[in-house]
Amino acid sequence: MINIAIDGPAGSGKSTLAKNVAHKFNILYLDTGAMYRAIALSMKNNNIDVENEKSVIEQLNKINLEIKYINSVQHVLLDGRDVTKDIRANDISMLASTVSKIMLVRQKLVEMQREIAAKNDCVLDGRDIGTYVLPNAALKIFLIATPEIRAQRRKKELTENGINVEYEVLLNEIKARDLQDSSRDFAPLKQADDAVVIDTSNNTIEETFKKAVKLITKLF
Ligand code: C5P
Repeated sequence: MINIAIDGPAGSGKSTLAKNVAHKFNILYLDTGAMYRAIALSMKNNNIDVENEKSVIEQLNKINLEIKYINSVQHVLLDGRDVTKDIRANDISMLASTVSKIMLVRQKLVEMQREIAAKNDCVLDGRDIGTYVLPNAALKIFLIATPEIRAQRRKKELTENGINVEYEVLLNEIKARDLQDSSRDFAPLKQADDAVVIDTSNNTIEETFKKAVKLITKLF
């Protein structure tokens, strides 16, 4: 199977690129962040303190998480309920980052991710795909962009969804999440040595896509 890893910090353009790549090459797109978000949502819905590792693990063991594809679009089911939209709420981002520090949370999700990757040609986006989940991926892309540009993108995305959060708040959240994601002990956000880095700060979506297509075409 051909597996492509796209990693990078929040707002660097991973999901947009991954979606476009999946469409162009007719392969599956697995958004791994959505899985951490679903675990975070379950904690929130059950009033679990995400800083309390023992409580998180207790709840984790009760969770039934499923990934389904409907018309090639990924849906996340939490205990049978489709939470694909709910996990996009802004407060879920930081909660997801906090639960993702816990080793057992990561183990459960990484196992599911590897299983999907073993059965499908696919592009996966996340933080640790190239370094930990799929160290033998056919291609690893690491996207970067300045925190200011990434906060602007998040602001636009939220506004489009009718959610109003101040730019400064988003900028601070993005910086805090970067720090937490890159400083955790287990599978932190990190560029793999053999990853191709694309700085998307001054690129249009189309320019980034073209660069990626050039690299991916060689694989097929
Ligand atoms: O990509 P997204 O912003 O939806 O991810 C939410 C959070 O999930 C990230 O901030 C990160 O802490 C965690 N995550 C992770 N490993 C991945 C994907 C996401 O730790 N492969």
